[in-house]
Amino acid sequence: MTKTVLDSSLIYEFIFRSTANGILVANSELIIRRINPAAAAMLGVSGENIVGKPVQELFRKNPVLLNLFLRDGGYKQDVQLPHQRLAQGVAETVKTGERVVLLQDVTEHRDIENRREALSKVIAHDLRNPVSAIGGFADLVGRFGDLNDNQQKYLQRIKQTTNKLNELVKSLVDLAWMESGMPLEHVPIRLDETVQKVVNDVKDFAQKQEVHIAISMQRPLPVVIGDLPRLTMVIRNLLHNAIAYSKPETTIAIHAWGNEHEVFCSVADRGIGIIDSELEFIFDRMYRSRDERIREISGGGLGLTVAQTIIKRHGGNIWVSSNLGQGSTFTFMLPAVEI
Ligand code: ADP
Repeated sequence: MTKTVLDSSLIYEFIFRSTANGILVANSELIIRRINPAAAAMLGVSGENIVGKPVQELFRKNPVLLNLFLRDGGYKQDVQLPHQRLAQGVAETVKTGERVVLLQDVTEHRDIENRREALSKVIAHDLRNPVSAIGGFADLVGRFGDLNDNQQKYLQRIKQTTNKLNELVKSLVDLAWMESGMPLEHVPIRLDETVQKVVNDVKDFAQKQEVHIAISMQRPLPVVIGDLPRLTMVIRNLLHNAIAYSKPETTIAIHAWGNEHEVFCSVADRGIGIIDSELEFIFDRMYRSRDERIREISGGGLGLTVAQTIIKRHGGNIWVSSNLGQGSTFTFMLPAVEI
């Protein structure tokens, strides 16, 4: 078999010319030596006009960009571009003494972040604050004089309801953020460790409900790339449901396995189960089963919507199989990566 020899300088040249990130290289005298097409487009200049010129002269009117060249070592700073665009600039001095500046256009990204902030502020202000106020006043009522048994009972109900509302608002904010295109983190994640952590977190709830949790993991489990807090939330939501809708003295089985392409995780309970006619709705926003036994258990009907949104945003999928009266198995799949 003939071995293909890849010339790395050709590869770097290809990346240099075709990447969407701007790249500028200056020599140790801070004279621009190279600029790629993306950087030329971002800065609105032509390569020929700037190669061979000193950065102090070229970027006099853009002190932040100039600063990226003038500083030593690794440095990061937002750089204003023409036409009200914004780039994140990263600079480093390489061994040859050349200064390399990378420019990543983050205009849309920052836009989304700003919109997300505005949205969450509105929800936080219009919903969260009044809900917290109700909780706070409910706490105060008990401090001003003795309450009779009924008053105490109803006060307790108010507190429980405000806690539930708080949870619901938190999920709503989260869902709104994700649906508004919030960028996710992309870090390597070992799902086996994440599952173990969530199981520890829900230990008390499981004990209260008298259910056991059994974990079985393929080891080593392929790594997935994703947003750790969000994927933790998916597992927490599935496990929380499994515990809430289980019968006492039954066992919930969490299983994770995978291959070089995909990682799977399933949460199987021996609980109430889901009637066939409702299976297609349970991932819908605020859908809760009509089953009396489910209605008795508190919930906002958002846990599965949030889980599905997160999994889909990671390029994965989530599904359920269930038998009424026998239990349900929720499984999600995420693309695996080789590390
Ligand atoms: P919530 O649990 O707060 O109602 P979810 O979005 O997490 O909201 O779930 C939606 C509905 O799906 C639940 O109300 C319930 O009817 C059904 N469901 C979810 N998980 C299970 C499960 N493990 N067993 C039985 N029903 C479930």
